[in-house]
Amino acid sequence: MKSHQSVNQRNSLNFSGGPGALPEPVLQQVQQAIIEVPEVGLSILGISHRSDWFAAVITELETNIQSLLNLPENYHILFLQGGATQQFSMVPMTLRPQAVSPAEYLHTGYWSGKAIPEAMRKGAVRVLWNEVDNNFRRLPTDNELSFSAQAPYLHYVSNETVEGLQFHRVLGRDDVPRICDMSSDFLSRPCEAERFSLIYAHAQKNIGPAGVTVVIIRDELLKNAPDDLPGFLDYRSHIQAHSIYNTPPVFAIYVVLLVSRWLINTIGGVARMAQINQNKAELIYKLLDTDNNFYQGRADAGDRSMMNVAFNLSSPEMEQTFLNAAQAAGFSGLAGHRSIGGIRASIYNAVTLPAVKKLVDFMDDFQHKQIR
Ligand SMILES: *Cc1c(COP(=O)(O)O)cnc(C)c1O
Repeated sequence: MKSHQSVNQRNSLNFSGGPGALPEPVLQQVQQAIIEVPEVGLSILGISHRSDWFAAVITELETNIQSLLNLPENYHILFLQGGATQQFSMVPMTLRPQAVSPAEYLHTGYWSGKAIPEAMRKGAVRVLWNEVDNNFRRLPTDNELSFSAQAPYLHYVSNETVEGLQFHRVLGRDDVPRICDMSSDFLSRPCEAERFSLIYAHAQKNIGPAGVTVVIIRDELLKNAPDDLPGFLDYRSHIQAHSIYNTPPVFAIYVVLLVSRWLINTIGGVARMAQINQNKAELIYKLLDTDNNFYQGRADAGDRSMMNVAFNLSSPEMEQTFLNAAQAAGFSGLAGHRSIGGIRASIYNAVTLPAVKKLVDFMDDFQHKQIR
């Protein structure tokens, strides 16, 4: 068997919007686990979800997430399938917004826009903010939002992955349940988790491979959940079964466990992770802010994402030239989302500062070659 390649020997650095890069030491452990998880003596792809070993994986991962987020005791942590998309439906199915008190949603970009029609199938929705006319270049200020005390819940997306917009504060009222899609910035920074009633985040942007979605629910949110939900779509079934209601994605959950250990033991927690992420993002934004306008950042400066840096060049042709040159130089995944084009550098937790430095050097070099 060929021995593993280190990240520096690989052909490409991964700046993809998702599935995203994973930490090098995690990939090495995964490589080993595909052949054999040492303490079990079996491949991770063939270990029973009913084994004591896997029950311990679930318990350790719950404990790790709880400690990374400082989560109080009255929260359940679930590992579900169906991606973030299934949560777009499970949330309104569980909370049944009524016409007299519609659920409140913010439409801040592509992904929040996908959640709204799913909620409308299940009940009444009031859209508090809809920036679609301006192509989602900024987020609302508190003065531009009026939250109702009667709303059954507020739903928003903390980081709009496509447009590169990120809230740097918690939104809404403390007396209305907050529900947040944190798929693309979960565990990238401290998030005041105890102020949310439900947080969901699929793994494949920032914390693992596709196939598993972390859902964190405050216990009391479920007290009026309807009794006629399909078992699979009822959070209570999964709570009762300890995330083993049916065959779960053992492999994906195991990789998320390895990532959580890496965050705790190697990085030193989410506050430290946030500092690193901030340093990475500032390197790129500094280049976008040089006054020649060669690279034009998409998002307003105050709402910029630390995870997804979206920008444009002077024309789609120039952007294609850039992407071709980047690909040839070993930078992968930089094309913007198909819905808006442009360029997007996704710099999730596992993308290292040296990798970002390389990208910035490349961008600087490219710009000088074009201008010369
Ligand atoms: C990618 C993404 C989604 C879609 O997730 P799936 O797991 O593919 O359903 C939802 N929300 C956000 C914020 C995302 O970035």
